[in-house]
Amino acid sequence: MINTQSESINNHCKVIKHILIIEDSKSLANHLKETIDKGLSFRCDVAYDENSARDMIPRKRYDLIIIDIHLPDSSGNFIGELLRNDHRLIVMTGQDNEECRSKLIALTLVDYVIKSDAKTLTSYLIKTIKRLNENRYTVIGVCDDSKLARTQIANALKLQNIGYIEFEDGQQVLDCINGQDANIDILLTDYEMPKVNGLELIRRIRHTFSEDTLPIIALSASGKNHLLAQFLKIGANDYLPKPFTNEEFLTRLNLTLDYLYILRRHNKLIEELEHISIRDFLTKLYNRHYFFSNIKHITSNAIRNSTPYAIMMIDIDFFKKVNDTYGHHAGDVAIQHLANVLKDTARASDYCFRWGGEEFLILIPTSSHDESYQFAERLRKAVEISSVFVEDEDLTFNITISIGIALGLDKDANHLISKADGMLYEAKLSGRNCVKITD
Ligand code: GH3
Ligand code: MG
Ligand code: MG
Ligand code: MG
Repeated sequence: MINTQSESINNHCKVIKHILIIEDSKSLANHLKETIDKGLSFRCDVAYDENSARDMIPRKRYDLIIIDIHLPDSSGNFIGELLRNDHRLIVMTGQDNEECRSKLIALTLVDYVIKSDAKTLTSYLIKTIKRLNENRYTVIGVCDDSKLARTQIANALKLQNIGYIEFEDGQQVLDCINGQDANIDILLTDYEMPKVNGLELIRRIRHTFSEDTLPIIALSASGKNHLLAQFLKIGANDYLPKPFTNEEFLTRLNLTLDYLYILRRHNKLIEELEHISIRDFLTKLYNRHYFFSNIKHITSNAIRNSTPYAIMMIDIDFFKKVNDTYGHHAGDVAIQHLANVLKDTARASDYCFRWGGEEFLILIPTSSHDESYQFAERLRKAVEISSVFVEDEDLTFNITISIGIALGLDKDANHLISKADGMLYEAKLSGRNCVKITD
């Protein structure tokens, strides 16, 4: 891996939120501003001519400037000046012709866009800005033996707010993705390279990384027609023949980026759903469902190692009275308070569950009689000495808990739960605010 000089992989990436729109048609400018503000939930600035833009730009560092190519007071070199000062630009033009296109393609723009109808224009701009912001979390591996080719791609990626790592050959890519040095989200690879060529590289990568986990775009100047099919068959997500214009490169790359971002959102959603499905809403502790989907693993470990596991049942004393005296909301706060004490007192290896209403269960995967008793006592005291504080009612009160513990090597956890329940019942009979444990 050739690291990017003194620069870190994505040092140049930043959040795009200060945007300036320079457009002389007031109705279009205002429409763009309103729609972008609404679509992205931050506010753009607007200038209706070059002179006002020249006043505004030094006063605020704009992350992106969207500029109409034809302004009534145009000096003719404004876009060039902005580019020399390293501004990120999207140029809008009303001229849909070859000459204008080739002029714009030659500039180092983030993008250019032909002004068609306002709706198409705004949705393209919003999509582009959203992508630019998401791009900053993305790192692309650029594998090419030509330094020039790597630099060109790296410059294009920088403009798009994307991080990158350069590789001179396939072996460097394999070393990187199999090691812990850096995480690559997408790989761009050349075909003809020393040591490992592009096809061989993709073949080897696909042994461990699927098209979903590491999308790959192959780039080749070989001109052999059959390469396209070969690359796609062996596991490339896309293929782009060299030479390509910056615009061709970006439009193709954007397809893969959009695919990656859909996957990211999808995976995040699944993670959130999993989180919700295993946790109790009020306390964020694990729920009963999670207990039963994991307990087999704990019990078989306990049996294999002949070290007992412990089940601790915890119940708030006279909780009905708490509800009757202070109200149901205060009762909820008391439940949350107890959950926090459990989280603070339990070790990382213990599992805390909200078992039902004001009842909790702690599962200790390996424990001894004395250890679990002492732990329960610590817990009981921590609850006794701490107070429940209901902030919005400026109300403070105390609660106590009773605890029943059972230890064993039972294959069926329900046996141990019943025993712990029996011990909890004894604790209640013995006057509450105490711990009872099986012999
Ligand atoms: P004991 O010392 O014998 O446990 O007496 P207790 O009053 O705590 O008795 P019990 O366990 O029968 O009462 C539980 C009460 O907890 C009944 C129910 O109204 C209340 N409760 C259950 N879930 C919730 C909840 O989520 N929020 C609130 N505020 N109250 C709850
Ligand atoms: Mg080459
Ligand atoms: Mg109770
Ligand atoms: Mg109860």
